[in-house]
Amino acid sequence: MLSTIHNNFQYSNASFTGYKEAKTYANITRLYNWYNFKKLYECNLTKLEGIQEGLKTFEGLSMKQIAFALTDLHSINVIRGCVNHCLHCYANAQPFISRTPFESFKQIMDDIVALRKRIGINIISHRGSNYTNCSFDVDGIDTHLFDKEGKKHDAVELGRIIHNSLGYKMVFDTNGWDRNNLERQQIAEDYVKQLLKHKNSRHFYQINISLNPFNPKYVKAIKDGYDPETYSPFIPLDPVCKTKSPKEQKAEDLYREYIKNEVNTLFTFTPLLLKGKLGTIIRGLDRSVTNMNGCYLDEYAITLSNILSQLKLAYEWDLCGEQKVIKSEKMLKKALNGYLKLLNKGKYRLFSSGRMENLYRSRHNGSLDGIWAIDSFRHRSENNYNKLVAQRKISATDLGYLKMINSDGKVYLYDNYAVIPTDIQLKTGTQNLAKPFSIKVKDFVVTEDMIDRI
Ligand code: SF4
Repeated sequence: MLSTIHNNFQYSNASFTGYKEAKTYANITRLYNWYNFKKLYECNLTKLEGIQEGLKTFEGLSMKQIAFALTDLHSINVIRGCVNHCLHCYANAQPFISRTPFESFKQIMDDIVALRKRIGINIISHRGSNYTNCSFDVDGIDTHLFDKEGKKHDAVELGRIIHNSLGYKMVFDTNGWDRNNLERQQIAEDYVKQLLKHKNSRHFYQINISLNPFNPKYVKAIKDGYDPETYSPFIPLDPVCKTKSPKEQKAEDLYREYIKNEVNTLFTFTPLLLKGKLGTIIRGLDRSVTNMNGCYLDEYAITLSNILSQLKLAYEWDLCGEQKVIKSEKMLKKALNGYLKLLNKGKYRLFSSGRMENLYRSRHNGSLDGIWAIDSFRHRSENNYNKLVAQRKISATDLGYLKMINSDGKVYLYDNYAVIPTDIQLKTGTQNLAKPFSIKVKDFVVTEDMIDRI
């Protein structure tokens, strides 16, 4: 039965234009496509031309453009900016957070669902990473939108809408927050409570805490001469040691602050750890990268063990006192063991783009020679881009690009290094962004005639 449908319609030469004909074609082929897990880019897009009619988001776009934009969709960037200022940030995120109105986000999601229903298969598909985020550069704690009435729509709600609309989940990552910022602490605790429930966490691909030697407080403390090997989780009775210069004391205080913030983040997320819902992203440089003292993973391991010692103390205090999180010795051991495993998962995989490039430059007298030691993919990206520009067709490239859609609807190609604009723009109701990204955008525009492969 299914192969009959395939033979009758897949190879028909009839050419359709307009909604009615496209809908007829979609109705006839939907069962075959659904049964065979067809992706939108594998469908006959010429015959589906017109099915997008009346959906505001896709106004003026061809089905080829839509399929291209929605395949390997890394993110729909409805939130921009981050206050953490990590020195390795590939997005070079800036501390001015901008948010698109919730209604605009919802319009895109609703139109994607409407198009999916018309065609009968999920129109989003991934061939690599299996997630789609709502931002390129935001911390989980700041992941929320407001509607026109000022009502907040938090990460849990956005995650649910994204999963239900796109069929793919988003990632919740946090680099932590200042523990004295009570508002952010409250937001974090609320997320932990919500994400403990399966009905909420099931919409997230991963929930992660990031730890790395690129936090500004940590970097400054190390730069100013603090030695993490001298750290003790116990605060000295006379904190101002006479033998230390003010600069050394300041560096120690900064390091202590850093440790306490990281410990507070881990402590706050302990309930998720105990439920097996938490991961970590721990990154540092390999020794083959020269002249980057303070940024190496093996150096940072000492700090990770300092964090664990301080965390153990925080758990013990909690058990003897409030029992806010730790209610028994058994729980204490389980939590410590859990974090011990997670903090041992450090990796060298880092991108040398964005702020990492600046950091490298600042340690190498402005030169980027040798930056390839951080990641060889940088080479591949440059080669790929050169081929794209020379041959003016997507098929000239060796690997597929991810796609990002900005809040103004403009679609960009991305490969962790290069951001390349296209002439595809969804209608979102947000005006064209003057500065689409905080990293450099290439000045070569990919046009529809260059899309010979999706
Ligand atoms: S790496 Fe992540 S948390 Fe750090 S500044 Fe960039 S976006 Fe923010």
